[in-house]
Amino acid sequence: MEKERIGYRAHCLVLTYPTQGHINPMLEFSKRLEHKGVKVTLVTTYFISNTIHKEATTIALETISDGYDEGGRAKAESIHAYLERFRRVGSQTLAELLEKLSSSSRPVDCIVYDAFLPWALDVAKKFGLVGAVLFTQSCAVDNIYYQVHKGVLKVPLSETEILLLGSLPLEPQDMPSFVSDFGSYSAFLDILVGQFSNVDKADCVLVNTFYELEQEVVDWMEKIWPLGTIGPTIPSMFLDKRIEDDKSYGFSIFKPNMDACMKWLNDSPKGSVVYVSFGSSAALEVEQMQELAWGLRMSNRCFLWIVRASEEVKLPKSFVEETSEKGLVVRWCSQLEVLAHEAVGCFVTHCGWNSTLEALSFGVPMVAVPQWSDQSTNAKYIMDVWKIGLKAPVDEKGLVRRDALEHCVQEIMEGERGKEIKKNAFKWRKLAKEAVDDGGSSDKNIEEFVAKLVPS
Ligand code: UDP
Repeated sequence: MEKERIGYRAHCLVLTYPTQGHINPMLEFSKRLEHKGVKVTLVTTYFISNTIHKEATTIALETISDGYDEGGRAKAESIHAYLERFRRVGSQTLAELLEKLSSSSRPVDCIVYDAFLPWALDVAKKFGLVGAVLFTQSCAVDNIYYQVHKGVLKVPLSETEILLLGSLPLEPQDMPSFVSDFGSYSAFLDILVGQFSNVDKADCVLVNTFYELEQEVVDWMEKIWPLGTIGPTIPSMFLDKRIEDDKSYGFSIFKPNMDACMKWLNDSPKGSVVYVSFGSSAALEVEQMQELAWGLRMSNRCFLWIVRASEEVKLPKSFVEETSEKGLVVRWCSQLEVLAHEAVGCFVTHCGWNSTLEALSFGVPMVAVPQWSDQSTNAKYIMDVWKIGLKAPVDEKGLVRRDALEHCVQEIMEGERGKEIKKNAFKWRKLAKEAVDDGGSSDKNIEEFVAKLVPS
């Protein structure tokens, strides 16, 4: 109320794509904007808003429709059909929302939209607003899709294709699966390449990464667009601690079971637990799931494994009961609290971009087991550029076998390479904190972005 009276510097509408990995960075960016005196209205779909587990937040929430109010994406016959209807119904309901807000005490100045929803820029322009696109994947990955968009990188790739990203050579297996395995999910490749369809018209291009992490690629992309790195979008209390009540993302698509996780972690010695999670959407092959289960069992270490309800049937029969002394399997947790816990010594992960940034920001070494999308590229950087983890080797079927997993976990927890990796993880943790702290590279970019919104 007080702010409403004395006035905000600007009002941003922040439009999310309705999945956990996209909502989290948008929401955290919103909190950073609010901290700088900007009024923020977070916009999500009607279905997500009705089903999500929310904590209290100061950010106002509004909804638009994706055309599937009764079940979201799961109700669409294909991702292609979903996106098409979302574009049509979303544009219309977003325009209606802007009409409604135009008579509020602080009309909207800018739309910050997820790069998966490029049509939001057309709506912003129709209303004469600033349009800022936010990319929720790494700059390296964005760059690869941009090269595909420009036709520089031609898909399907030849087997010997090497893409030089800065000074880093990427082979096909290091590229996003939609590119390396062309045709596997063509609708997704369309979304990702489509992120660049109108990017040249956006007033600002924001990316959830930080300059020090991807310096070479950022320098290159900055020459093309008004680019600003604004990450890592991790709740402030885990990094710079400047936003006091920002201790969690606050929105969860699945219900976390934190009591069980915390009890398990509190009872475990420092650095002893292997935390395993494949994020909110990866669907593992049954054989892969079973190999991981055996690998964890063979490692004889304590583990906490997040297995979403839809993945549970893939676990070996009786695995949960038989390993209950050593391991805890739960459907969902608050990953930040787990990674921040001193009992966690290693993170076996699919390397989703948020999970990667979280592990990096907390200094937790990783065992990369990428599944699809951008995860192989993230894994390549984790192992060969940032050197904060190991990529588990795969066999000819593309599966990580039990002994490979066991070996990687062993290397991280006790091996010589583990020591080096922990040192690097510590270094990156410090740099991540500095980037978002007062005067850091991301903090400055956020400040510059806000300054652009405020009429001089
Ligand atoms: N996450 C969580 N609890 C879990 C597993 C994941 O809160 O049990 C969060 C995690 O902190 C991250 C997000 O879900 O912010 C997953 O995003 P990511 O980009 O890593 O992977 P995606 O789910 O998009 O594949």
